[in-house]
Amino acid sequence: MENQKNYSLIIIGAGPAALTASIYASRYRLDHLVIGESLGGLAFEAHKICNFPTEQEISGMEIVEKMKKHVKSLGTSLLLDKVINVEQKKEAFKILTRSGKIFLAKTLLLAVGTKRRQLNLPNESKFIGKGVSYCATCDAMFYQGKTVAVVGGSDSANTASLYLAEIAKKVYQIYRKNKLRGETAWVNQVVTNKKIEVIYNTEVIGLDGKEKLEKIILSKPYKGQTELAIDGLFIEIGTIPQKNLINKLSLETDEKGYIRVTPDQKTSHSGIWAAGDITTASNNFHQIITACSEGAIAAEDIFKFLQNSK
Ligand SMILES: Cc1cc2nc3c(=O)[nH]c(=O)nc-3n(C[C@H](O)[C@H](O)[C@H](O)COP(=O)(O)OP(=O)(O)OC[C@H]3O[C@@H](n4cnc5c(N)ncnc54)[C@H](O)[C@@H]3O)c2cc1C
Repeated sequence: MENQKNYSLIIIGAGPAALTASIYASRYRLDHLVIGESLGGLAFEAHKICNFPTEQEISGMEIVEKMKKHVKSLGTSLLLDKVINVEQKKEAFKILTRSGKIFLAKTLLLAVGTKRRQLNLPNESKFIGKGVSYCATCDAMFYQGKTVAVVGGSDSANTASLYLAEIAKKVYQIYRKNKLRGETAWVNQVVTNKKIEVIYNTEVIGLDGKEKLEKIILSKPYKGQTELAIDGLFIEIGTIPQKNLINKLSLETDEKGYIRVTPDQKTSHSGIWAAGDITTASNNFHQIITACSEGAIAAEDIFKFLQNSK
């Protein structure tokens, strides 16, 4: 351990919060490393982003590519790997990755985001990749001219339906409440799109098919039927926090598992900050711009902390 490099900062995650924190850390000349399992995180999965300043309309892939380019232009190392353990050693945090790499750091920033919520139906896992998807941007092209359904009523469900309507023959959007929520601009486009049929006050309670998904079972009849024949089901019912590292570090969270942070993004553990969708900050508004903002605030506070501890 004595011979190993001890970074000033290791950022865990490679989504908007992490990448922004890295840009700020580079500008502060903080010797740091970014370790993320997937580049761009959930932002990569967004089909169309129309609410990020300077970008009237941009895909998730494009915005992530721009962020990566910015990070790399400042000379930062970006390692695609999963952090599977973090231990507090006397002089540093010791980080172990899935590929077996070990790193040391004086401070840590957790920007690990959230993961997609599942419907938790008995055979849901069996149909993943065989008709069930959690990412319209990734999988829509497999449903050219076919009939699909989207579950959910939020922005990600609404934008998934709109994107699928460009490719599929027919899109059902199934929502358990009586009104879609999220940005009015998206809601208006969904309800006026001729290819999209919204089924309100209804849940998907079963999946059926031999080798692949063939039909879904609805909680109440729609046009007299509780079974709906479809080729693909896109589940867009929100996200849940990535809890592994939080539990390992015994960080304080709210009742849903989001990391509690101070206004300067400090966690309950000295030397560890958190930013982005994984935190209780920004009024729990989970967006790219709020993730970026939290990443910037965290990097600035880490810089001050390291300056003061010299
Ligand atoms: C379909 C969809 C559409 C969206 N559309 C918009 C939109 O139009 N506008 C908008 O502002 N927001 C949108 N969002 C929300 C936006 O994507 C998120 O708010 C944003 O990505 C959060 O950034 P983050 O960095 O906090 O987390 P994430 O983007 O989720 O990134 C988390 C990162 O942590 C990594 N990670 C997790 N665990 C580990 C580990 N153990 N080791 C290493 N790395 C780890 C992940 O691989 C990932 O790189 C959308 C989301 C979805 C799903």
